Amino acid sequence: MSDLLKATGLTKHYEVKKGLFGEPDIVRALNGVSFSLEPGKTLAVVGESGCGKSTLARLVTMIEEPTDGELIIDGKPAKPGDKHLRQTVQIVFQNPYGSLNPRQKIGSILEEPLKINMPDDAKTRRKKAEAMMERVGLRPEHYDRYPHMFSGGQRQRIAIARALMLNPKVLVLDEPVSALDLSIQAQVLNLLIDLQQEFGLAYMFISHDLSVVKHIADDVMVMYLGRAIEKGTGEKAFGDPRHPYTKALMSATPIADPNQRRARVKLEGELPSPLNIPAGCAFHPRCPIAEPRCAQDKPELREVDGRLVSCHLA
Ligand code: SF4
Ligand code: MG
Repeated sequence: MSDLLKATGLTKHYEVKKGLFGEPDIVRALNGVSFSLEPGKTLAVVGESGCGKSTLARLVTMIEEPTDGELIIDGKPAKPGDKHLRQTVQIVFQNPYGSLNPRQKIGSILEEPLKINMPDDAKTRRKKAEAMMERVGLRPEHYDRYPHMFSGGQRQRIAIARALMLNPKVLVLDEPVSALDLSIQAQVLNLLIDLQQEFGLAYMFISHDLSVVKHIADDVMVMYLGRAIEKGTGEKAFGDPRHPYTKALMSATPIADPNQRRARVKLEGELPSPLNIPAGCAFHPRCPIAEPRCAQDKPELREVDGRLVSCHLA
């Protein structure tokens, strides 16, 4: 199947000033990330906070422009503010408290994308908003209420409904359940799974929490300091990871089956700053099996047993 979204070498570097007269520092938030997304599939993007996941989400939706690289959305190069992009890719953010305007009623929040992008009259807009509210588990009387009158889970349902109003083909989900209680997380995840099937949506599902994406991911991209370090099917990445960092991430998540044992790999030290990315393999200061050459030679992503891994020893 042809790709809905194809990113090649996406890069984002920012300059930060050191005082008034200092030379600016460069934050290397994202360093040449490539991936593609097929209709109806879920790509999980995982890594610790600070690995570039949210930057990637903002680039894919053109909230920010890349410093370098190419992004093709449904056959067309993505441009900021482009209607084709808005109608194809929508985003749901982590924080359902911050992402909804507190002074806007739910009905008006849901109708806003239609007002800007569609020729619908007021009656049609209201009908569409009410239908979508019902679809995500809200009630008709919620139409005239304000965001603060809802729980976190309900607010995330509202954010999901808003993202779906223009019939997009792709949802970028940036930690969509991380701010919610565990019991609510499962409800919102189930809603996302149902909506995906019903509308044939593709998801780019960003999470630091592997137990959240494990059941929903077709493909997985593991990121470290702005690079993809392992990419493959969920089966390979979760069941048989090859990069030491992926192994450490996977071993930190609980396994449901008590008969299955897995060696725990401990991650030493803190994630380095994207202001100061280690030379060679960026993971070498924390890697339990690093060799001297790892501090000098940068490993490229290469195919190892049906997935891509960037590690000299994989
Ligand atoms: Fe560890 Fe070296 Fe592989 Fe990097 S290249 S992950 S430092 S073994
Ligand atoms: Mg983030």
